[in-house]
Amino acid sequence: MNIILLGAPGSGKGTQAAKLVEFFNIAHISTGDMLRAAVSAGTPLGLEAKSFMDAGNLVPDEVVIGLIKDRMGDEDTNKGFILDGFPRTTSQAIALDEQLAELARSIDVAIAIDVDPEVIVQRVCTRRFCPTCGRITTASEGDTCLMCGCKLETRADDKEDVVRKRLEVYEQNTAPLIDYYRGKGILHPIDGDRSIDEVWADVQKIVTED
Ligand code: AMP
Repeated sequence: MNIILLGAPGSGKGTQAAKLVEFFNIAHISTGDMLRAAVSAGTPLGLEAKSFMDAGNLVPDEVVIGLIKDRMGDEDTNKGFILDGFPRTTSQAIALDEQLAELARSIDVAIAIDVDPEVIVQRVCTRRFCPTCGRITTASEGDTCLMCGCKLETRADDKEDVVRKRLEVYEQNTAPLIDYYRGKGILHPIDGDRSIDEVWADVQKIVTED
């Protein structure tokens, strides 16, 4: 099963992707995670990406398309994959189609998680992560990770002004992909303004009925 998760930042793509990974045991490909790893490691790619990410802008297409091209060559993607945060522009979607055609693969479903932008601002500004175990949680948990006791942190791009910029960028560049995948007959929109379990019930239904 090859799945694309579409949705604004903070719509719950990462959370549903983690559930899908567990359900199908397939590869989770998050360009945001790959770019953050490159930034933390201080690689030339990370240094190039950092300023775009900190400002809430998209990293240039050629950089992320290159990352995905390499990642799709990994063996674990043969049994299926979940794309989380890619594609984010029409050029990326076209490049993906071309690469999948070369590999004789295709996307089975594109799931678009829809959440009201003001709900997103509230969600993302209270999002915290544990730099040690990688767990994503909320400010309501306090300052320390309940799993490993480390100090929780806020992502640099989860500040309100940057979140609003990211939402603007999403509307302009990524929202048009909803029509792109609708045109291919593989789009499944779902209401993401519900509990994680309710959204998961819909996601599960889509991927098992497809
Ligand atoms: P995310 O974790 O998916 O919200 O991504 C965090 C940031 O990484 C985004 O705000 C962008 O700056 C960058 N990024 C992630 N995926 C892409 C992509 N497909 N195209 C361009 N920039 C991306």
